[in-house]
Amino acid sequence: IFPGTVDATGRPATLGVMGGGQLGRMFVHAAQRLGYFTAVLDPDPQSPAGLVSHHHIPFGYTDKQGLAQLAGMCDAITTEFENVPASALQTLAESLPVAPGAAAVAIAQDRIQEKSHFTASAAESGVMAGVSCAPYAVIASPDQLQAVPAGLLPGILKTARMGYDGKGQMRVNNAAELAAAWAELEGVACVLEKLLPLKAECSVIVARGWDGRIVSFPPQLNVHVDGILAVTEVYEGNMPPALAARAQAATETIANHIGYVGVLCVEFFLIDDGSEHGALVVNEMAPRPHNSGHYTMDACDVSQFDLQVHAMAGLPLPAPRQHSPAIMLNLLGDVWFDAQGDARTPDWQAVLALPGAHLHLYGKTDARPGRKMGHLTITGADVAGVKAVARQAAAILS
Ligand code: ADP
Ligand code: MG
Repeated sequence: IFPGTVDATGRPATLGVMGGGQLGRMFVHAAQRLGYFTAVLDPDPQSPAGLVSHHHIPFGYTDKQGLAQLAGMCDAITTEFENVPASALQTLAESLPVAPGAAAVAIAQDRIQEKSHFTASAAESGVMAGVSCAPYAVIASPDQLQAVPAGLLPGILKTARMGYDGKGQMRVNNAAELAAAWAELEGVACVLEKLLPLKAECSVIVARGWDGRIVSFPPQLNVHVDGILAVTEVYEGNMPPALAARAQAATETIANHIGYVGVLCVEFFLIDDGSEHGALVVNEMAPRPHNSGHYTMDACDVSQFDLQVHAMAGLPLPAPRQHSPAIMLNLLGDVWFDAQGDARTPDWQAVLALPGAHLHLYGKTDARPGRKMGHLTITGADVAGVKAVARQAAAILS
């Protein structure tokens, strides 16, 4: 599907996205830059992506009429959040290319399936040797709760479905706290993961085409605060090279194992296992561009959103080249409030005066603590300089 073309009815080549959040908005920008028309399905009339798209279809994700409209005006469909019902993607796939596909999204929606997929990928491929999941148990019944091995405590209880940004998770120290936490989560299917001694966290983003070609970005080093991504750092030496190579190979294996098409992000923990550099543990995957990949828009010659466009439309997949070290700071709604809790406008004058500062705001007018409002990427000629400017930016925004 080439951009700038029209079909027999005169309709311009159009790419559609399920979901109208900031990831959808940045996808729309990338698609439009290449000359595509865009369509967004999101029930919110003020959705960040809907506001900038050629077409916004304000229907729910399973609404037959909305899905039919979307299918009618698009040449290919992607998704920007993983909780879009897999059945909706299946319906769309009956009439046009959908990437990623319903099966891959369904795996990412369920931590239990996700862990099985990681384990199966590891078993199939020697590449993932030494990359395992955190020790865990499925808790979907009172019997399974009783049978939890003591070795998994202290641990983190996570709902199998619908969790994100640390939501749907509770830390538990002992069997009593575990039982209380599971009751508080109303007995839905969960996984209990052993609490691991994290040295660091990283993620890898790959893009895989319909033909199986796969390209990847270098591993991103991520800092989370209260379960939400706060900072991503990407430059040569951000993690030991051997671990970086292993994380990248593991991510490619995970994508290949299910014939994935589109952009995929896999999150890893780096844990202290007594060895010199530590060991990699695979955490979860996102079937879409990822917050930790936003720096690619400013620090790489193709961004994760460009690659999503290329992959879904069947265009060639260029191997990305990072041309600058980068540090990304997430801008949560908290930045819009001062220490006393009073609303304020962040000092954009000072932020925008910083060298190599790239400000991205998502068009959300209602700032709330914890809400992702935008991000700031710092690029520069060398790592030390980028780190210094990032510290200045953090001080201005604190
Ligand atoms: P979400 O879907 O909310 O991103 P994650 O499973 O990625 O859920 O957990 C969010 C964060 O919580 C992780 O980035 C990490 O900082 C912390 N965390 C999650 N699982 C563990 C674990 N088993 N041990 C230690 N920390 C963890
Ligand atoms: Mg996560």
